[in-house]
Amino acid sequence: MRLFYKLLEDEEDDYVPYVPIKQRRLEKLHKYATQRRMTHDLRDRSSNDEGSEEDEAVQAGPRANISLLDQTVQQRKQIPEKTEEEKRLEEERRIEEAQARHKALVSVQESAHGLIYTDPIKTSWSPPKCILQQGEEFHQAIRERYHILVEGEDPVPPIRYFEDMKLPSVILDYLKDKKILKPSPIQIQGLPVALTGRDMIGIAFTGSGKTLTFSLPLVLFALEAEVRLPLVQGEGPIGMILCPSRELARQTYDGLNAMSEALSKSGKYPELRSLLCIGGIDMRDQQDVLYRGFHMVVATPGRLMDMLNKKKFNLDNCKYLCMDEADRMIDMGFEDDVRTIMSFFKSQRQTLLFSATMPKKIQEFALSALVKPMVVNVGRAGAANLDVIQEVEYVKQEARMVYLLECLQKTPPPVLIFAENKNDVDDIHEYLLLKGVEAVAIHGSKTQEEREYAINSFKSYKKDVLVATDVASKGLDFPEIKHVINFDMPKEIEDYVHRIGRTGRSGKTGIATTFINQQCSEQIRLDLKHLLREAKQKIPPFLAAMEDPMEKYGGQLLSGGCSFCGGLGHRINDCPKLEQQRRQQMNTMMSRSRGDGGGF
Ligand code: AMP
Repeated sequence: MRLFYKLLEDEEDDYVPYVPIKQRRLEKLHKYATQRRMTHDLRDRSSNDEGSEEDEAVQAGPRANISLLDQTVQQRKQIPEKTEEEKRLEEERRIEEAQARHKALVSVQESAHGLIYTDPIKTSWSPPKCILQQGEEFHQAIRERYHILVEGEDPVPPIRYFEDMKLPSVILDYLKDKKILKPSPIQIQGLPVALTGRDMIGIAFTGSGKTLTFSLPLVLFALEAEVRLPLVQGEGPIGMILCPSRELARQTYDGLNAMSEALSKSGKYPELRSLLCIGGIDMRDQQDVLYRGFHMVVATPGRLMDMLNKKKFNLDNCKYLCMDEADRMIDMGFEDDVRTIMSFFKSQRQTLLFSATMPKKIQEFALSALVKPMVVNVGRAGAANLDVIQEVEYVKQEARMVYLLECLQKTPPPVLIFAENKNDVDDIHEYLLLKGVEAVAIHGSKTQEEREYAINSFKSYKKDVLVATDVASKGLDFPEIKHVINFDMPKEIEDYVHRIGRTGRSGKTGIATTFINQQCSEQIRLDLKHLLREAKQKIPPFLAAMEDPMEKYGGQLLSGGCSFCGGLGHRINDCPKLEQQRRQQMNTMMSRSRGDGGGF
């Protein structure tokens, strides 16, 4: 009972009278308003009387009398506002990082084992003493003279003469025979880099001689391996060249064979064998090479994966990998295939990436896996060949076919006509045949025989005009093309650079005529305008009159336009190609989540 009273007393001490909820709310509101007023008063005082002790007390520590919201607002005010330029650069960096994240060029095994190679492959070649003695200052002067830009640790010296490159005399004779007398800029720097075993990113415009830069070292490495220990049945390859298209692969394969033949025909050197591993051909035709073992393989990714999966050969001894037109390879969706191919390598290899255009996305893709790479850049990446006179003409959509005939009169043959879609190629081809023009056509839906017939008859000057979709623009070497006509403007400026690069090769001047009209996107017209300006070409009035959003960035080309696609008329934030890629990824993800992704 006593205890009961005690409890009652305690309760009475703590007694709080009941307050209706409405009133409690009003009181709370009032308390909050008073607090805010105090905060404002203090802030006003602090701005009138900066540095006072009272002010210090408010600024420091968890301030009970200032709401968190107000504290945050106040803190934000203290951080200086970023300029528009800073914000834009930050945004660009963020996009670039996101792009680079998934693109490492390492094999699945290497990334799983955490294998990182730190030293380049060692070869028996080194620059001659007389070149080394010239010193880095002299070497830099040579680079500047030939407009060669290099990046990377311990740069390898450039060499201006084939005679100084310690090449076998048979190769020197072979080059003379082909009228290749002095190395081109990419060869001056690229050959010594490749011969020393260094990884490399080679950026050079089409027709600059890049094929020789990666083919010749491969032939020499293969020769050295064969001399040391001849390949026996089922062995090889020593090195590999990956190409995005069958035609390009065949052309490179022919080049390797020509050099191998010159070596073996001299009687001084053994036979070297190459395998052409591309779709659309019967691999049984090369059964003999497969059986006897081969030193070199030139491949397109699809057929190569197929052969490797079927264990027709392996890459256990492959020490040299070159990806030609690396940017195309990624753009064409071969990225995962390339990574799968990497998983077949058993040891470190020398990796070379070559391309006419090399936007940052590829450099990031490559730099993650290359060992102490040297970037050799001849002319700005993505820049058009300066030996091409670029004429851009406004031609209405329906007037193009008739105007095409007129345009063909500009130069003697051979002439290359590009159109974006297959139907247009077929229509143009048919129209030209009707008009009595000796024309052939090539596009993705033609059979392998039709494609080869078209290319061979055009290359051997039996046909005057080749009408093609962009497949034919990818690195194919047609000597002496006088005129490239773009029946339409490609959707991406890189394709334009590749297309017009078919003419003006090996130092000869060519003409490129491009039909343009309202069908072309504003973005591509702007990119074209900037490209023409950079190549010091005439800018037609309808392009000159275009309002230029790049002017908001100070009217100048900030570090070469878009770092994703290389277009000069926009920045990565406005890149239509990146936008399209994102949309595609989004669609794929959505169709996967809907469960209609196909599958097995
Ligand atoms: P690319 O596709 O860049 O390898 O261009 C190759 C074309 O240029 C081929 O027809 C070669 O025969 C030719 N070529 C390569 N190197 C040289 C050189 N140093 N001098 C003259 N022509 C060359």
